[in-house]
Amino acid sequence: TTFAEFGLHTPLLARLAELQYLQPTPVQAHTIPSILSGQDLLAGANTGSGKTAAFALPILQQLMDSNRGSTTKGNFVSALVLVPTRELAKQVADSFKTYAVHLNGDIKVVAAFGGVSVNTQMLALRGGADVVVATPGRLLDLISSNAVKLSAVATLVLDEADRMLSLGFTEELAQLIALLPKKKQTLLFSATFPEEVRQLTETLLNNPLEVQL
Ligand code: AMP
Repeated sequence: TTFAEFGLHTPLLARLAELQYLQPTPVQAHTIPSILSGQDLLAGANTGSGKTAAFALPILQQLMDSNRGSTTKGNFVSALVLVPTRELAKQVADSFKTYAVHLNGDIKVVAAFGGVSVNTQMLALRGGADVVVATPGRLLDLISSNAVKLSAVATLVLDEADRMLSLGFTEELAQLIALLPKKKQTLLFSATFPEEVRQLTETLLNNPLEVQL
């Protein structure tokens, strides 16, 4: 497989060539087509598998297609990526920004994580964002101060879902999920599938493609 076969738009393909991503990793080859088609996903994938690009590229493509980029208003978010740690939040947000380099600044990506002042993140979220990459606790804080609204989220990603739950974010996750629209695309990535993750997948995913790599 090649990235071009997925039908990714030229600015994304050009960027992948620059980054010398010569061909999709297995997780990318197995998930990108179904994500692009709008299907939910349950993926067993480890760090280093290329899972970040597996969800970031289709999300950027969908944002380009829906033209949400320039029309985001009113603190709404189109794509929400939940991650367990601040390091991962920064890393995943940077990946989105890297892949979006040739999109002419049309796509706004904001990282929201705890341990730093909330003010910069509130400012960044003003007027909405296309992609928010967040840790659950900080995102709830930002929601209670009306800095961000989840009612227009079209795509939800849970990255490293097992770590998120083992770090004790179960209650925060439940609160966040309750604020999301029922109709959305959900992508769940996890290295392991303990009972708690299985329960989450059952309540959250709708007829997902299941991939174990
Ligand atoms: P991840 O598993 O998402 O943390 O990605 C692991 C590393 O692989 C990152 O440094 C990516 O930049 C790199 N990477 C992801 N996809 C590809 C690819 N198709 N070809 C080459 N490198 C890649």
